[in-house]
Amino acid sequence: MPVLPAPTYVDVVDAAARLEGVAHRTPVLTSSTANERTGASIYFKCENFQRMGAFKFRGAYNALSHFDYAQRDAGVVTFSSGNHAQAIALSAQLEGMRATIVMPHDAPAAKVAATQGYGGEVIIYDRYKENREAIGQRLARERGMTLIPPYDHPHVIAGQGTAVTELLAQTGPLDLLFVCLGGGGLLAGSALAAAELSPDCKVIGVEPEAGNDGQQSLARGEIVHIEVPHTIADGAAATHLGLYTFPIIQRLVEQVVTVTDAQLIETMRFFAQRMKIVVEPTGCLAAAAVMSGIVPVQGKRVGVLLSGGNVDLARLAQFLG
Ligand SMILES: *Cc1c(COP(=O)(O)O)cnc(C)c1O
Repeated sequence: MPVLPAPTYVDVVDAAARLEGVAHRTPVLTSSTANERTGASIYFKCENFQRMGAFKFRGAYNALSHFDYAQRDAGVVTFSSGNHAQAIALSAQLEGMRATIVMPHDAPAAKVAATQGYGGEVIIYDRYKENREAIGQRLARERGMTLIPPYDHPHVIAGQGTAVTELLAQTGPLDLLFVCLGGGGLLAGSALAAAELSPDCKVIGVEPEAGNDGQQSLARGEIVHIEVPHTIADGAAATHLGLYTFPIIQRLVEQVVTVTDAQLIETMRFFAQRMKIVVEPTGCLAAAAVMSGIVPVQGKRVGVLLSGGNVDLARLAQFLG
């Protein structure tokens, strides 16, 4: 496989065309309670309403749409226990391709079932003994499948960025944009879109406090690796930024801030009670930074990306109870 060049805004526009009529144009919601509490005009971009329940569909589908005939014939392989697995499985189903997903032995049964429900073949590995990237690479070699990683891939980054081209078309220019940060696919794509369409908009990444590798990486000027963090924000439990995502974030993102699990739970409750929507813990990161006043937003026009809504009902009941 040739090494692909770093993605630019042009690739985000190209991805938007490929996703037209396939991905949902998700709604932007507002809340007078949120506006009163913060003194700002807040626009919530609801990717919890995206197909399969998270923005990940955008990047996964965009990546698969670039496959040539031979790649389509052999299919796609990836490693993920979360939303990227479902996004790849659904995208492959829509494109009539085979998908193999490498998942840890302790992945939630609901996520394994959802991935299989979209027609994906799930291969289980022991996360304490084996390396998922090595398994993915071996499958790619043996079966001729193309490996699409969860965040560090130009087509994935460009696809994720379409959430923000859409948001800015819906709201007009913004002063601030808050985006959750795991491996940085969504944040890098969002920053590419915002820099072009709303150049004065400051883009802020939000990580779980327990896993602030992105914040450390910006401070040190290099990619910092951490242990798997213990946080309820499981979608942002990546242990390091990527070779594609880090330089974009370094160039275009104003700062990275952190929030605690307690702030995430408070924010989930706010969404359920006031706005009547289900947002998964990771999906609350950006909103938690705004609602708990970590960054001053008074008088500003503020975009907040709600990244997903896939949460086990029993866990949701615990958080809301
Ligand atoms: C994957 C994911 C994230 C983190 O996205 P990255 O591109 O890895 O930074 C955030 N929220 C949800 C719901 C996710 O599934």
